[in-house]
Amino acid sequence: MVDRLRDQGIRDEKVLEAMGRVPRERFVDEGLGYSAFDDTPLPIGYQQTISQPFVVARMIEILRAGRELGKTLEVGAGCGYQAAVLAQLASEVYAVERIRPLLEKAKENLRPLRLPNLRLKYADGMLGLAEVAPFDTIIVAAAAREVPVELKQQLAPGGRLLLPLGVAEQRLVLIERNGNLFKESRYDGVRFVPLLGGVE
Ligand code: SAH
Repeated sequence: MVDRLRDQGIRDEKVLEAMGRVPRERFVDEGLGYSAFDDTPLPIGYQQTISQPFVVARMIEILRAGRELGKTLEVGAGCGYQAAVLAQLASEVYAVERIRPLLEKAKENLRPLRLPNLRLKYADGMLGLAEVAPFDTIIVAAAAREVPVELKQQLAPGGRLLLPLGVAEQRLVLIERNGNLFKESRYDGVRFVPLLGGVE
């Protein structure tokens, strides 16, 4: 998988290393295990999907450019795969999920990996995680119609937020905080499940 990611243009060796350390097959339903290393999104139940390896690697590469991830919030933990990759690179990771059975599944998937710097929370991530904010990095794994204000507000000085933005047409958008200025840069077109409010 790492060789393919390299061929697809991922250049950050630290990201490639982290991707190589996390066994993706652990996060995919049995019976689908054979395709765990294919580069496609796969179902994880509750109409949600595990992100494809290239997209996980690409998002983390964009966020890392020239700096460490630091204290990181992931919105949309799903089955926990991307959270495990983030935990290889960030000092602390808080991953939130709004569907409780998925969160339980993520906990189960992640337990054997023993990642002491990763915490999972059952919460509506559109609101961020006020009790732990500010964050150096925020990564959103579901597509928002617009940038949630709380997430911007919970960025530390110099912090970065990366999220898929849009409905039918989605694009990765990076927001960098400098004081109270927020600089936006647009990246690749993507396809994510929608970011929804509230918890289930
Ligand atoms: N990060 C996962 C991908 C999960 S798919 C991976 O590594 O594969 C996106 C997830 O975002 C879904 O599980 C969905 O339930 C969750 N989600 C959507 N809106 C959310 C919100 N407001 N707060 C928290 N999680 C949310």
